[in-house]
Amino acid sequence: MDLFAELAAAVGAEHVLTEPDLLAGYESDWTGRFTGRALAVVRPADRDEVAAVLRACAAEGVGVVPQGGNTGLVGGGVPRGGEVVLSTARLTALGEVDRVSGQVTAGAGVRLADLRAHAAATGLDFGVDIAARDSATVGGMVATNAGGLRVVRWGPMRDQVVGVEAVLSDGRVVGSLSGLEKDSTGYDLARGLVGSEGTLAVVTAVRLRLVPALPHRAAALLGLPSTAAAVAAVGALRGPLLSAVEVCYADGVALVREHRGLPAPLPRDCPVYLLVEYAGEHDPTDELGAALAAVPDLVDTALAVDGTARRRLWAYREGHTEAVNALGVPVKLDVAVPPARAAVFETAVRAAVSAAAPGARLVLFGHLAEGNFHVNVVGAPDERAVSDAVLRAVAAEGGSISAEHGVGVAKAPWLHLTRTAAERDLYAAVKRAWDPSGILNPGVLIPR
Ligand SMILES: Cc1cc2nc3c(=O)[nH]c(=O)nc-3n(C[C@H](O)[C@H](O)[C@H](O)COP(=O)(O)OP(=O)(O)OC[C@H]3O[C@@H](n4cnc5c(N)ncnc54)[C@H](O)[C@@H]3O)c2cc1C
Repeated sequence: MDLFAELAAAVGAEHVLTEPDLLAGYESDWTGRFTGRALAVVRPADRDEVAAVLRACAAEGVGVVPQGGNTGLVGGGVPRGGEVVLSTARLTALGEVDRVSGQVTAGAGVRLADLRAHAAATGLDFGVDIAARDSATVGGMVATNAGGLRVVRWGPMRDQVVGVEAVLSDGRVVGSLSGLEKDSTGYDLARGLVGSEGTLAVVTAVRLRLVPALPHRAAALLGLPSTAAAVAAVGALRGPLLSAVEVCYADGVALVREHRGLPAPLPRDCPVYLLVEYAGEHDPTDELGAALAAVPDLVDTALAVDGTARRRLWAYREGHTEAVNALGVPVKLDVAVPPARAAVFETAVRAAVSAAAPGARLVLFGHLAEGNFHVNVVGAPDERAVSDAVLRAVAAEGGSISAEHGVGVAKAPWLHLTRTAAERDLYAAVKRAWDPSGILNPGVLIPR
């Protein structure tokens, strides 16, 4: 039997796509930066079908690219050329919320927005939220250790995962969905798969921790003189109610205003803006007001207590991605430095980009509590030179070349900047142990 016949036998012929028109949506990423031809797209409906697909591909030595919502930003979820794309679009089983443990089991293809709505129906919420929530899937978020807006409150995806079920490239199933909060029997395979970017196994279902829904919110936009002042402000604002701390800069805010036709966010223009949100089971406005009074060097501020006013403030931060994309396809680099080094890094990265790509436009924004900057460069003639300059600036400050998007193919050549030779040897050994045939996401995370 040839591979196509085996795949059809595994998942049904109607779920093996080979027509170019049908493949197109799976072959390019959200940014348009990464694209490649797929041999086929297969859409298994359950764990056993995933196992059959992997066995068939391993027997033929054909690469497999797991793909969830295809919102990844580092090229890890689209084919490079000639692989089978294994779409999790049909792995959408969503179990009942277990109120006793505060957990739920979700299929890898469940979208974040659906998970959150499911939890909300029982008065709970999911701790991670990202702007791609309508498409991003639980499996993709586990694979990339997604972070987003609320890491300061609930941690990244790694902190939400209690158990994982996954299929190895030889078709064997590993992991557990029993939801044990306490389990000290050796290696933590579930969390080992968090951040593995589809290189070790295909995640088919996840046991997730839920968090209390926090219906009351208050937000403030702070105008500050510098990144150093913004970092000091985070220290003053930190507390049990803090749910988001987003940083952006005057040039980015001007771009968003132009793109969306918005008025100035504050009466006085400021070099740096910090958007802060407090959330709780009771109205947190008083606590936020008291924390703001303790922020040093505050130039200007706007407080938003109702939903409309909050959305008005958030528009300046959330509009950044679309406003940048409207300028052209950006080089997007998601990085982190220790927050104490954020101010030094901001200066260094501006100098690095103007040296590597004079005339290109740099827009910075991010999640300041984690020192997580999204570095967007539009109009760089040499993408590689810009990436190299930015990632070296990150490494010089003791940072990470990927804060929350993963390494993918985009950053694999720079892994050596923040992982030692001994660590890279271990990465390769772990990869060989989980995926001896080497068919899972070749070229992602570990350079070929
Ligand atoms: C507008 C926008 C905003 C975003 N904001 C954020 C943000 O704030 N924070 C953040 O962290 N990310 C953000 N992202 C990036 C992206 O949404 C995340 O990386 C997300 O986790 C990807 O999920 P996905 O289902 O789309 O995965 P995909 O893009 O389909 O895949 C991503 C990676 O995971 C692997 N993978 C997918 N499913 C599985 C599986 N079942 N088993 C094994 N491997 C798998 C793929 O092979 C690939 O390497 C944003 C993206 C967009 C477009």
